[in-house]
Amino acid sequence: MVTAQAVKDYALRLGFTKVGIAPALQGEEVARLQAWLDRGYHADMEWMRNPKRQDIQQVLPGVKSVISVALNYYTPHKHSQEGAKISRYAWGKDYHKVLGKKLKQLATWLEQQAPCQTRYYVDTGPLLEKAWAERAGIGWIGKHSNLITKDYGSWLFLGEVLTTLPLEPDRPHTEHCGTCIRCIVACPTQAIVAPFVVDARKCIAYHTIENRAPTLPPDIVANLQNWVAGCDICQDVCPWNRKFAQPTTVAEFQPYPHNLNPSAAELAAMTEAEWEKRFAGSALRRIKPAQWQRNGKAVQNSTDRP
Ligand code: SF4
Ligand code: SF4
Repeated sequence: MVTAQAVKDYALRLGFTKVGIAPALQGEEVARLQAWLDRGYHADMEWMRNPKRQDIQQVLPGVKSVISVALNYYTPHKHSQEGAKISRYAWGKDYHKVLGKKLKQLATWLEQQAPCQTRYYVDTGPLLEKAWAERAGIGWIGKHSNLITKDYGSWLFLGEVLTTLPLEPDRPHTEHCGTCIRCIVACPTQAIVAPFVVDARKCIAYHTIENRAPTLPPDIVANLQNWVAGCDICQDVCPWNRKFAQPTTVAEFQPYPHNLNPSAAELAAMTEAEWEKRFAGSALRRIKPAQWQRNGKAVQNSTDRP
């Protein structure tokens, strides 16, 4: 029988930064998700309503354990001061590819150690990833709703292997935001409507990535602060990132130069062919050419203001 320690050792050998194990039992995050949905905070992201997100047994019947992993993507580069800004997570190679390869290796290895069924996900399945990571002891969900670790801050991608094997679980992580409210104060659109609660309808990250409307709401445009893809403001101000972020050892996460200092004017005029070339192998393909044009124009408009 494979032990929890052997699983963790193998995950770390594959290069994951952190790993923990949670029992496959849903908890209070289900009620929190439902309350969030009831308030309409998910905007038009209807996949958030998938009932599987509230019941992991519907994702993998008989699942007993969730192996949660994290991979550090921080590099010490700075956001552009003149050009448009792209969120750190998307500077380098598509994280789905990088983590997906390692998760597949972990799942395959596990099935070789003991007869079991597995499923693996990297931001691709109907799972409450951050809640599982917290329960697996990797870190805690901060007031900005991202997962924070004590040793790397929040610049980490998350992934999971679900398995029908019972594995000794870790203890859930405790919360360490304390009295800090820096992220809430710094958010230019007041999207963190209460500690731990983000209203996507007010969030720049939602609007620049997920919103497919031809124009962005005026309140968002007025507060864009040059963001064209995601927004890192609430994470940039977090003391855990300021003190504990560490450079990644994953070469694929080194930034492509054109993602560090993009020109809003270039993005506003980007053709389909340019998009294909520029974002090959990038998570930024989620943002379609029409959205890049819209976001680039919005940044141009917001910086043209007196
Ligand atoms: S990502 Fe930006 S807009 Fe969204 S909550 Fe954080 S600071 Fe606010
Ligand atoms: S900025 Fe402060 S309140 Fe916000 S997530 Fe970081 S520690 Fe928590």
